[in-house]
Amino acid sequence: RAKEAGRDAVMCYEEGMRETAQRRLALEADLRSVIERDELVVHYQPIVQLDGHRVVGYEALVRWQHPTRGLLYPNEFIPVAEQTGAIVALGAWVLREACRDAASWEAPEDGAPLTLSVNLSGRQLSDPGLSGHVVDALAASGLPPERLTLELTESVLVGEPARTAERLHELKALGVQLAIDDFGVGYSSLSYLRQFPADILKIDRSFIDTINDPAKLPAMIRGLLELGDTLHLQTVAEGIETPEQLAALSGSGCTMGQGFFFAKPAPGPLHPGALTAEGTGALSDVLPS
Ligand code: C2E
Ligand code: MG
Ligand code: MG
Ligand code: MG
Repeated sequence: RAKEAGRDAVMCYEEGMRETAQRRLALEADLRSVIERDELVVHYQPIVQLDGHRVVGYEALVRWQHPTRGLLYPNEFIPVAEQTGAIVALGAWVLREACRDAASWEAPEDGAPLTLSVNLSGRQLSDPGLSGHVVDALAASGLPPERLTLELTESVLVGEPARTAERLHELKALGVQLAIDDFGVGYSSLSYLRQFPADILKIDRSFIDTINDPAKLPAMIRGLLELGDTLHLQTVAEGIETPEQLAALSGSGCTMGQGFFFAKPAPGPLHPGALTAEGTGALSDVLPS
């Protein structure tokens, strides 16, 4: 009996593996034609100035409207696209599409023009065509370079520090802003960080998750904010979900925030008419109308 059950479990396990592998192969094949079939969409999540709660820009987050599997999120297909190299074309498409959208956003009446943040993966950073893709996207859309921020995760930056720093300086020379994404969960040392011409530090959601007292900011977050301050970087708190988290961050020196508490990513930039009841508690009086 026990032996049989064991054998069944093994069979199940193998079947599971086979299914995963098959699913992955199918995704890989589908990814090759995803752009020609026009199945990618870009959603936007607002980035909010914590002092005054004004929307200052949006982060572009890609989704795949798969014909049979429904809406797929980046964690399901970006890693596959990274491995096959499809990320290079996909990334160039996102840049173009998002820059075109952002060029049409109206500036808030009483504020600076809205910024656009676009994520780049490691494979894109090591692609010699990257600068060209950025230049093309800016030229085709007419978006001024200073309105574009390129986000790179800390883990991407530690790979080959010298070559990475060179690449980043090349991008900076285009006039764009650079942000270090998911900061605090990777392993970059202070000496690396100083070499990178970054403008913005995005503090990973896992730190914001540790806030449970609206009157007390965890020491780790205070440390990260201090580091940002020392390096003259603006700071963004990622993944603000509750009013308590927002309260703890207010007056902390953190420049900006982003998270479901303000708004979830959505197909177009939000305007008050587009707000849903869910996750938008703080934004109804914040958004540009
Ligand atoms: P990221 O750049 O750190 O983006 C933030 C992620 O956190 C997004 O997930 C967003 O929906 C989610 N998020 C925002 N606020 C909250 C919150 O309050 N709570 C929680 N639980 N989550 C929140 P998403 O859209 O699934 O993207 C995941 C990751 O995929 C991104 O992390 C980014 O690294 C990558 N990605 C997204 N779009 C692109 C792209 O166009 N190109 C590349 N190379 N990577 C992308
Ligand atoms: Mg990001
Ligand atoms: Mg992040
Ligand atoms: Mg991430």
